[in-house]
Amino acid sequence: MGARMAGEKILLVEDNPVNRRLAVFLLRSQGYQVLEAATAQEAFAILASEGPHLIVMDIQLPGMDGLEATKKLKEQPGTAHIPVLAVTSYAMKGDREKALAAGCAGYITKPIDKNTFIQEVAALLGNKSRI
Ligand code: MN
Repeated sequence: MGARMAGEKILLVEDNPVNRRLAVFLLRSQGYQVLEAATAQEAFAILASEGPHLIVMDIQLPGMDGLEATKKLKEQPGTAHIPVLAVTSYAMKGDREKALAAGCAGYITKPIDKNTFIQEVAALLGNKSRI
C-alpha cells in the first residue's frame, strides 16, 4: 500500500454511529485520512474548509438525504469535481440509476462488503484525474 501512504482524504457522511465506525476503521486501515459527518449539513460545513478527494455518502440521512446532498454538491463549482460513492441500505430496483442521476460516481449497498467497499474507494480515487 505504498501508493496510499500519502493518505488521500475522504469525507464519510453516515448517520449511524456503528456503520460510521466500521467504515472509518476500514478506510483508515488502508491509510486514508477520514473526515466524519453525521448529516448533510455537517458535511457542507466540513466542505467549507476541507477539500477531500472522495466523499462516501450514505443515502438515508436525517434531514436532507444523500441524493439531494449530492445534487447540491454537483451544482457547486467548489465541490462538483469530488467523486461521490453512494451507500444505501436497501437495494431497491432503480436505486443505482437514481444515485447515478444525482451525480454519484459509484454505488454500493449495505451491509458493506469490506473488499467491495475498499475496491470501489480505490477505483474512484484512481479515476479522479479523469473526471
Ligand atoms: Mn443512514
